[in-house]
Amino acid sequence: MRQDRNQQTISKSTSVQGFGLFTNADVTVTFLPAEENTGIVFERVDLPGHPQIPADIDYIAAEERRTKLVNGSASVEMIEHVMAALAGLQIDNCRIQVNSSELPGCDGSSLPYVVALIEGQPVSQSARRKTIVINKESAIEQGEAVVSIAPYFSGLRISYDLNYGSESCIPPQLADFTITPEAFVTKIAPARTFVLEREIEYLRRQGYGEKVTTADLLVYGESGPIGNSLRAHNECARHKLLDCLGDLALCGCDVQGHIRAFRSGHRHNHQLARQLKQMIRTDRKQNERAA
Ligand SMILES: [Zn+2]
Repeated sequence: MRQDRNQQTISKSTSVQGFGLFTNADVTVTFLPAEENTGIVFERVDLPGHPQIPADIDYIAAEERRTKLVNGSASVEMIEHVMAALAGLQIDNCRIQVNSSELPGCDGSSLPYVVALIEGQPVSQSARRKTIVINKESAIEQGEAVVSIAPYFSGLRISYDLNYGSESCIPPQLADFTITPEAFVTKIAPARTFVLEREIEYLRRQGYGEKVTTADLLVYGESGPIGNSLRAHNECARHKLLDCLGDLALCGCDVQGHIRAFRSGHRHNHQLARQLKQMIRTDRKQNERAA
């Protein structure tokens, strides 16, 4: 464990409004400053007693296609794009009030959250942010999906290799970035969620995504995105990288290492975040023994 930089919060409250892509419910997200070492904490202000849900891998719930946290009877889902925005901007302490269970999908990217958080004026705090340094390679494999993490000389690098095969209307593509606030804001945050046309039809039959249009996210038909154009040739791979960054932030530390991901999704990211959290716990125990 190393300490490279000071923790950050925001100076003033800022909010984002929209609707949940799955639940269709209108929702307001308000970001508030928080003391050092608070971490990221969601607060359901629409429920009695305003229950809090820490953005921590220990609170993860199994959910397809998105990341959901549960604490007792309170839950919050679709948090990954907000978590990516906070991680990308290195905002470590923040209270996030929400008045519905699902965060707004906005344009399917992290950009609206980045804009709001920059308006909140990130500010340095006096406590140091911990970094977990990866010193040996490990991998999570499930069928064709692989996520590995290996030592890296500086910061966090994520390489996402997207390949759904030659039959897919989404062509093979790679996104590979060392994560800095600048790279995040300009190259990663704007990358939008994508879905296949037949998947969205299936979701709609189940009552999900009624309000979603092809302008809200990338809907892929046989010949590419419908009614929309790409923000980058590898926008889909960049978005998978964004999801990975947001999910990994649930380990509560900065990570120095190189993540290579192939055909992986939230489930694999969560497993990796769990593994990192375990490393942090082991490290802390060793430090306590040494002290
Ligand atoms: Zn996503």
